[in-house]
Amino acid sequence: MKNKQISLFSAILLIAIIVILAVSTVFLMQTDKINKQYEVEKAITPTPSLAPPQLYAKATEPLLRMGSISNEVKDLQQKLKDLGYYDGDIDGQFGSGTKNAVILFQKQHELTADGLAGKSTLNMLYSEKAHKIVVTPEPILPDVKKEELPMLVNRTTPIADNYAPDDLITISSLLDEKLAIIKDEGEKASKVAVVALSEMLKAAHADGLTTWQISEGYRTMEEQKELFEKRKAEYESGEETGNNMSAEEATKNATKDVAPPNTSEHQTGLAFDITVPGKSFADTKQAKWLSKNCWEYGFIIRYQLGKEHITGFNPEPWHIRYVGKQHSIFMRDADIALEEYLQLQQNKAN
Ligand SMILES: [Zn+2]
Repeated sequence: MKNKQISLFSAILLIAIIVILAVSTVFLMQTDKINKQYEVEKAITPTPSLAPPQLYAKATEPLLRMGSISNEVKDLQQKLKDLGYYDGDIDGQFGSGTKNAVILFQKQHELTADGLAGKSTLNMLYSEKAHKIVVTPEPILPDVKKEELPMLVNRTTPIADNYAPDDLITISSLLDEKLAIIKDEGEKASKVAVVALSEMLKAAHADGLTTWQISEGYRTMEEQKELFEKRKAEYESGEETGNNMSAEEATKNATKDVAPPNTSEHQTGLAFDITVPGKSFADTKQAKWLSKNCWEYGFIIRYQLGKEHITGFNPEPWHIRYVGKQHSIFMRDADIALEEYLQLQQNKAN
C-alpha cells in the first residue's frame, strides 16, 4: 500500500513536471518570437526623436510658416526678394517680415492669402507663373478747373430751383433697347450720362449679364416734390405706420425715405436707378458687376455702406451717378465718397 502511494505521487509529480516544461517551452518560444519581431520592427522604424516645438516646423516639411528656421526659408526669402516682395535679411528665419511678403505674393497670384508657404504657394513661387510685384501707385488727385468738378447735390446742398440739365434727352432715343428695359417710356436723362450708360451696359452684356432695367433717370423738382409729398401723406394718415402723425413728424420721417425737393441727385439728370425686374437688386450678380465696373465708365456708386454719415443716405447699390471717368476712378482708388472728393479738391485749391 505504501509503495503504491509513492508510485502514484511520483506519477503525479512527473506529469506536473512535463506540463510545466511544456508550458514553459511554449512561453519561451512565444517570447522569442515577439523579441525577434521587435528587432525587425526596430530596424525599420527609426527611433523617434523629441517632437519639435509646435511653433517650429521641421526643415524637411513642405509647409514653411511663422517660426520656421531652415535653408528652405532662406531660399524662400531670396526668391521673394528677387521678385520684389521681401526686403528683409536672408537669414532663414520665418518672421513677420517674411510672412507679410508671402501674403503679398499670395494676393498677387490668386492664392489664399494666409501667410503660410505650403505646397501651392511654393509651387507657384518656383514656377514660371511667378511674377514680380505689381505696385499700385497712390491715386493722383485729378487736376481740373473748379467748373469741371462734379456737381454736388445732397441734403445740405440743394440744387437751384430753376436748374435744368441742358442736354436732356429721352433715354430710349440713344440706348439700344436690347441693352436694358426702360421702366417708363419717355424717361429722360443727360445725354453725357446716357452715352456712358450705353457703353457700360454693352460691357456688362459682353460679360454675360443681359437683364437690366432703368427704373429712374431725370426727375424735375415738381416730380421730386410730388414723391416727397406722397410719402409725407402716408406718414400723416397713418397708412405707413398705423398711427397718425403730425405734419412735422411726417416730414421728418419722409425725409429719411425720400430726398426732399431740390436735394435729389435725380434732378441733375446724371443719376440712374438700375434694377433687375422681380429681384432684390442688392442680391443680384448685376449689383456685384455694377459695384466693380461702373467706375470705368465714369459712374460712382453714390451711396455706399460705411459712408452714410457723409452722404446722408443709407446704402443704395442701385443708384449710380455719372461724374466723369477721371473723377470716378480716383474716388474708387481712394475709396471716398463724392463729398470727401470735393473736399480734397477744395483743400488743394486753397
Ligand atoms: Zn436713385
